[in-house]
Amino acid sequence: MKYIGAHVSASGGVENAPLNAHEIGAKAFALFTKNQRQWQVAPLSGKSISLFKERCAEYGFLPKHILPHDSYLINLGHPDEDGLQKSRNAFLDEVQRCEQLGLDRLNFHPGSHLGKIPIDACLRRIAESINRTLEQTSGVCAVIENTAGQGTNLGHTFEQLAYIINNVEDKTRVGVCIDTAHTFAAGYDIRTKDSFAETFRKFDEIIGFNYLKGMHINDSKKELGTKVDRHDSIGKGVIGYETFNLIIKDSRFNDIPLILETPDESLWPEEIKYLYSL
Ligand SMILES: [Zn+2]
Ligand SMILES: [Zn+2]
Repeated sequence: MKYIGAHVSASGGVENAPLNAHEIGAKAFALFTKNQRQWQVAPLSGKSISLFKERCAEYGFLPKHILPHDSYLINLGHPDEDGLQKSRNAFLDEVQRCEQLGLDRLNFHPGSHLGKIPIDACLRRIAESINRTLEQTSGVCAVIENTAGQGTNLGHTFEQLAYIINNVEDKTRVGVCIDTAHTFAAGYDIRTKDSFAETFRKFDEIIGFNYLKGMHINDSKKELGTKVDRHDSIGKGVIGYETFNLIIKDSRFNDIPLILETPDESLWPEEIKYLYSL
């Protein structure tokens, strides 16, 4: 069974996200639990928390099919002590919000070295940030998203993701989210049956499907290996329909949130319908 949805708006309160997801025919969804472009935000109110849980129950959304995304400001591998501390505090707050909402996973981008520290030092710093957060929380899995590798962003190779996981102490609370647009832009071809099979064979060998806790299903405006992160609507970019057909027909992607982050929100109901028709 596939659980397909989109990264829906939570404006006006997190309790609006399950409503917005239900309205577009989604069986899964992603959300920001706070304004993703601000460091300081008010805590979740008791009313928001209970309404969020009520609506998830009402529309049949289970925690394992909900994939919250953290703030874009956070850099868990920040080379500077100040920046690192600020990011670790904000990340802890994000995980605590998930705990309050009864959610079991949080999706985030690993981090950037900003040209100031070596790659392996930055990856160890990211793992240490995860370890510290997990020690102070419970029940939430840290889900690392693969990136396109734009600028100094790490996490664009399966080896880098595996290196972070290897340095996380509690392996039961770490996972990955594979974004198809990022995978492609990072240089992994997934456009044909053979290239798709080969890329996910590598994924399984280097990371392992047991760590896969979610997918972002996006087409890409940018070509293979360009390392530029520009999402496109399903079938409208350079990846094309076949990749999404292969995902839907592959049981290794069952029972995890499959989330659209495609740019034209008005197409989401159609895109979800199309994917289910496969
Ligand atoms: Zn992301
Ligand atoms: Zn993504």
